[in-house]
Amino acid sequence: MGSDEVTTIDDLKKEISRFVTERDWDRFHRPKDVAMALSIEAGELMELYLWDRSPDREDLMDELGDVLFFLVDMSIRENMDLSEAFRRKMEKNDEKYPSSLVRGRDDKYTAYMGGR
Ligand SMILES: [Mg+2]
Repeated sequence: MGSDEVTTIDDLKKEISRFVTERDWDRFHRPKDVAMALSIEAGELMELYLWDRSPDREDLMDELGDVLFFLVDMSIRENMDLSEAFRRKMEKNDEKYPSSLVRGRDDKYTAYMGGR
């Protein structure tokens, strides 16, 4: 059993809150700044693949950890339930991308949804 199978989002929230609070960084982790940090870390993740590079596995783990940190931190700062946000969006995705229409296609959804 991998760690993902036993670690909850609440566990991650508690660990991030401990880390930030121990450093007295709560005052710096405003939603705007956390959103920016999340985007920057996503950029660092993309950079690993730039110019068809094959990312080093350790670097990839680091950037995934960074992205997850700020994603979960964002949900802390905005007091949102991340699982609920995910489930709600997945319901919308199921509606927006019905498998009967999109299976095997990678074009933009407006191509088959009449510009919706
Ligand atoms: Mg990083």
